[in-house]
Amino acid sequence: MPVKACPLIPTLDKIGLSRDDYLKFKQEAVKGTPLEDGKNTCFGSLAWCCKISSPCMFRNMTLEKKGLSAREYMRCKHRLAEKIMHRIFDEGESADESS
Ligand code: SF4
Repeated sequence: MPVKACPLIPTLDKIGLSRDDYLKFKQEAVKGTPLEDGKNTCFGSLAWCCKISSPCMFRNMTLEKKGLSAREYMRCKHRLAEKIMHRIFDEGESADESS
């Protein structure tokens, strides 16, 4: 989980999702996908890594080792983003309606 005060933190507070829940959700969401790996990256998983337009040799070495192209990496990130949006907007709304 990012530790510095990035814009994500106030956003999580605003939508009422705890950091721990977000962490667990994201770890679960990348299970079995190429983003699960990345022990040599900042946070131990490609799930937390920057987009491909930000230069990074650690992420790129991991992608190379996995045989994952930059395009496929960004596709995986896009799919992860869709899961997160679904969790926040669709499941979040149905949880609000049922309470
Ligand atoms: S892309 Fe590089 S700088 Fe960004 S989180 Fe991953 S390892 Fe760290």
